[in-house]
Amino acid sequence: MRIMPSVRFQSGDMVMGRWPGSSLYYEVKVLGFDGKSQLYTVIYKDGTELELMDQDIKTSSAFRPASRSRSRSHSPGRRRSRSRSPARTTRRSSSRKAAAVATVTIAETTPSSRREARLKEVLQTRLSPRPVVNNSNNKHEKTEDNNDTANKNPETKVETELERNQAPRYNLRRRTTDGKASETKPQQEADEEEKPKPAAAAPLATCTTPLDFGGKIGVYFWLLFLPAWVLFVILQGNLEDPSLVNFPPPLPALDSFLDAQALGVVLLWILFQAVLFVLPVGKLSEGMPLKSGERLNYRTNGFFAVTTSAVAVAAAVYLGVDLTYIHSHFLQLGVATLLVSFLLSVYLYVRSRYRPADQLALGGNSGNVVYDFFKGHELNPRIKNFDLKFFCEMRPGLIGWCVINFAMALAEMKVQGLEAPSHAMILVNLFQLLYVVDGLWNEEAILTTMDLMHDGFGFMLAFGDLVWVPFTYSLQAYYLVGHPNPLGLPALAAIITMKLVGFYIFRMSNSQKNNFRRNPTDPKLAHLKTIPTATGKSLLVSGWWGMVRHPNYLGDLIMALAWSLPCGFSHLLPWYYMIYFIILLVHRNSRDTDDCRRKYGSAWDEYCRTVRYRIIPGVY
Ligand code: NDP
Repeated sequence: MRIMPSVRFQSGDMVMGRWPGSSLYYEVKVLGFDGKSQLYTVIYKDGTELELMDQDIKTSSAFRPASRSRSRSHSPGRRRSRSRSPARTTRRSSSRKAAAVATVTIAETTPSSRREARLKEVLQTRLSPRPVVNNSNNKHEKTEDNNDTANKNPETKVETELERNQAPRYNLRRRTTDGKASETKPQQEADEEEKPKPAAAAPLATCTTPLDFGGKIGVYFWLLFLPAWVLFVILQGNLEDPSLVNFPPPLPALDSFLDAQALGVVLLWILFQAVLFVLPVGKLSEGMPLKSGERLNYRTNGFFAVTTSAVAVAAAVYLGVDLTYIHSHFLQLGVATLLVSFLLSVYLYVRSRYRPADQLALGGNSGNVVYDFFKGHELNPRIKNFDLKFFCEMRPGLIGWCVINFAMALAEMKVQGLEAPSHAMILVNLFQLLYVVDGLWNEEAILTTMDLMHDGFGFMLAFGDLVWVPFTYSLQAYYLVGHPNPLGLPALAAIITMKLVGFYIFRMSNSQKNNFRRNPTDPKLAHLKTIPTATGKSLLVSGWWGMVRHPNYLGDLIMALAWSLPCGFSHLLPWYYMIYFIILLVHRNSRDTDDCRRKYGSAWDEYCRTVRYRIIPGVY
C-alpha cells in the first residue's frame, strides 16, 4: 500500500518550489492542496500557477543564506550573468553554475528598493533560484545537493533530468492572460529587466539536455556511418544494378578518392556563394529573440543568390565549361566536400569552447569531445556579421544541389545520346528546383525552424548542409543518368498533381507558423484558436497546425514521394530519399516533441490531446 504524505504546507505559506524539468527552486505561494491527486497548487511571482508534488516543495530555510553564498562564489566576472527564465537557468557548468546561482542569491536578497517597487508594479518579479542546503536525508534532495558530483558525471545528470521530466503532472497556467499583451509582453519585459551580460568564456561541459543520437556511443556510429553511407550510395548510383546487398560495391583505387581539382572546385563554389551572401542586396531580417533578448540580423538574399548562380552556371556552359565533370567526378567532389565540412566542424567545436554561455545551444555540452563535436554547441557562430550556420544551411549545399541536378541532366543527354533530358529527369529537376527556390524565396522562414533556433552548429549540421543534402538528395537525378525510366502521360499528370498538393500543404503550413511566431497579433491570423503557455508564447491549435502537429512534415513527405516516383520501381536506390526522410522526420518530430514538452509543460500536453496525430491525420 502506498503511504500518502501528510499535508506539510497550508494555503498562504511562502515556500520554495522546483521549476519543472530543472533543478532550480523559486519562491512560491501555496494556494491549496488536492488530497486526491496529492498535489499542491502554487503560484510563482510571475503569475504562473503550477501543481507540484510534495517532494518538489521545500521550506525557505532549506536554502543557504546570502552571505555564505557570496563567499563561495569564485567567479566575479559572471556576477551579472543571469538567466532570464526559470527553465533556462539549468544551462551552467558545475563551477559556474554554483557561482552564478550564488550570485543570483545575493542579488535577490539585497534588491534595491527602486527595483523591487518596479517589479511589484508590473508583476514581473524575477524568479530567484536558490541552491539547496545539504541537510536532508531525502533521496531526492540529495540529488539536488550533489550537483557538483552530477555535473562531473554527465550521465548521472541526464538521468536525473529525465526522471524529473517524466515524474510529476505539472499544470502551468499564466494568471495574467490579457489577450494580445500576454503573447509577448511578459518575456520582453523580463528580458529588458535582466539582460545578461556576455560572460568571459563558455562553461566547461555540463550536460543540460538528454543525449540524442544514441548518446556518446551512438555518435561514434553516426560519425562513421554517415560519411560512409554517402560514399556508398555515390558508388552504387554508378552501377548498372545498384543494390543495397551489393556490399561493398566495386571500389576505385584509394588515391582516386582525393582529387585536388575537385577540392578546388568545391572551395571556389563555397567562396562564390560567400561573396553573394555578403553583398548588400536584399532585406535584413530579424531572427527570433535569443536568450540574451538580442535579435540577430540576417541578410535574406537567397533568391538573389540562386538567380545569380543560375546565370553564372548558364554563362559557364555557354562558354564551354563541361558541367558533366560533376557527374564523372561525383565521388571526388563528395570526398572534397566531406573534408571541408569536417575541418569546419573542428573549427566550430574549438570556438564553441570559448563562447559566452548565452551564445550556446542547450545541447552539445555533454563533456564528451566526440559527442559535442557531432552535436554542436554554439548557436549562431559568426565571423563578424557572417553567420556560418545560416550560410551553410541555405547556400552552398542547397544551391549546389540544383547545380548537380542540372549537371546530371546534361550527363544523361551525353550518356544516353539524347537531344533533351528525359521526362523523368525534367520532373526531378523541376520539382527539386522548386523546393530550393521556394526555400530561398521564403528564406526568412528558416529563422523560426529548429535548426536555427535550437540546434548548435557542429558536424551534424555542417555535414548535413554541405555533404548530405547536395550529394544524397540529388541521387534521383544521378540514378536517372544510367537508368532511364520512360513515363506515360497519366503517370506524369499524377506525379505533378501529387507534387503540387504536397507543396501547397508544406508552404501554407510553414508560412502560417512563421507569420504567427513573427506577429502573434496579426489580424489575418485572428480566426485561429491558440493555447497560451507559461512562456508567453502561444501554440496554434486550429488551421494547419490543428490538422496534425506537423503539417509541414506531411507536405514535405508527399513531395518526397513525387520526387522518387519518376524513377520507377526497378531499384530501391532512388527511393532512398523517401525512406530516409520518413526516418528523419519521425525522429525530428520526437526531438521537437521533447523540446516543446520541456518548454511548454502541460500546455503542450493539452495541444497533443487536442491535436492527436503527429504527421499523418488518422494514421500517425
Ligand atoms: P518546424 O518548423 O515545424 O518547427 C518546430 C517548432 O515550431 C517547434 O519547436 C515550436 O517552436 C513551433 N511549433 C510547434 N508546434 C506549434 C504550434 N502548434 N503553434 C506554433 N508553433 C509551433 O520544424 P522543423 O524546423 O523541423 O522543419 C521546418 C521545415 O523544414 C519543415 O517543413 C520540414 O519538413 C523541413 N525540413 C526539411 C528537411 C529536408 O532535409 N528536406 C530537413 C528538416 C526539415 P517554438 O514554439 O519555439 O516557436
